Amino acid sequence: TYLEAMDKENQKINAYVRSTPEVAIETAKRVDQKIASGEPLLPLEGIPMTLKDNISTKGIETTCCSKILKGYTPIYNATVWDLLQKQNAVLLGKTNMDEFAMGSSCETSCFGGALNPHDTSRVAGGSSGGVASAVGGNLAVYGLGSDTGGSIRQPASFCGLTGLKPTYGAVSRYGLIAYASSFDQIGPITQSVEDAAIVYDAISVYDEKDSTSRGKVGAPVCETLKNSIKGRKIGIAKEYFDGIRDDVNKAIQNAIQVYESLGAQIVYFDMPSLKYSLPVYYILACAEASSNLGRYDGIRYGYKTGHYADRNEMVCKTRSEGFGKEVKRRILLGTYVLSAGYYDAYYKKAQNLRGELVKAFEDAFQKCDVMLAPTVPMTAFPLNFTAKDAVETYLTDICTVPVNIAGLPAVSLPCGFDAAGLPIGMQLIGNRFCEATILNAAHQYE
Ligand code: GLN
Repeated sequence: TYLEAMDKENQKINAYVRSTPEVAIETAKRVDQKIASGEPLLPLEGIPMTLKDNISTKGIETTCCSKILKGYTPIYNATVWDLLQKQNAVLLGKTNMDEFAMGSSCETSCFGGALNPHDTSRVAGGSSGGVASAVGGNLAVYGLGSDTGGSIRQPASFCGLTGLKPTYGAVSRYGLIAYASSFDQIGPITQSVEDAAIVYDAISVYDEKDSTSRGKVGAPVCETLKNSIKGRKIGIAKEYFDGIRDDVNKAIQNAIQVYESLGAQIVYFDMPSLKYSLPVYYILACAEASSNLGRYDGIRYGYKTGHYADRNEMVCKTRSEGFGKEVKRRILLGTYVLSAGYYDAYYKKAQNLRGELVKAFEDAFQKCDVMLAPTVPMTAFPLNFTAKDAVETYLTDICTVPVNIAGLPAVSLPCGFDAAGLPIGMQLIGNRFCEATILNAAHQYE
């Protein structure tokens, strides 16, 4: 049913960049046999799903939606895909994304952007726009995306879905093609909080192949979803609300009232250092990206230029032709902030401020159990909005990047619609490895 729907609907929303019907059917047959023989099924067994195209899949082309990786077929699996394959997850295909996960609209993809299933004159969001478009358009039950500065939560918010960015280290990054390694995390985009909890429990496993892996801390998060949140302290930092659209603000105020009616206690405080989040994020993420993307040289992976006189020209032409404009901009920015004369002025200063933000969140979680904030200051952008001004687009990441800087978990879930009928999202932020707490609070609202 899903494969047929993809054949019909995908051209309208461009969610998938590659379908994998053979893999899907083979797995589905295996599950059928298990059902026929009366064997019990695991929670995700036989459920049709998708993976963002930066998650390595052995034998299946994985491109990060970049021309430079066209034709690259990994020889190993990302750990998350290994874990899900063991549960007989049915992979329908790989989904669209901003090139190397750099963007907020999916439009930097070399395949053209994924569209919003609520309104195809709008973007699905980014960078995991394809996953959100597929799940929102009923072309997958769930999908895994990656969130470096909001790329799971923002498209989930734009498409009326749940998106969970786990604590840094909770989910293995092995086989996730790196953008900014100290920020990147894999997580689910789903139609409900309960689904996100089920997928999170399946993928939050310690992995010796990722030196920053820790896995889940504590019991499965599904066990506490139904707990009462009476007496829970929900923190509101006023800086999260600076410059957000009125209708988004109103939707969040309504959610605050719902939480009060559920017996939660609302606490208000200031977090002045939040104002450094955007520059800190864009300096550090670009610095890490410029280093990570050094490996695409035309020798080891994917695309290689046709004509060249010597090796230097080959590398230079391969990279000039293979990378898109936004990726080049970030490599230049990252190289600049890391260069000898500017290192102290930008990179080092940003690292110090990162420490301050970590501390500010530690202080905040002395005062509350969960923080509530908008996910994005607005609803889904019209097409080509992000082409006009890169900095203008970076500014829209203001609410999502702080938790990536601090390595904290956050879940985005729908909390209303704007006048045009587009979904509005809010996020619940937790202390390190407190996924159970935020998912419980999210499920109680839902
Ligand atoms: N929009 C942000 C960026 O372009 C976040 C991207 C992400 O989380 N991968 O860097």
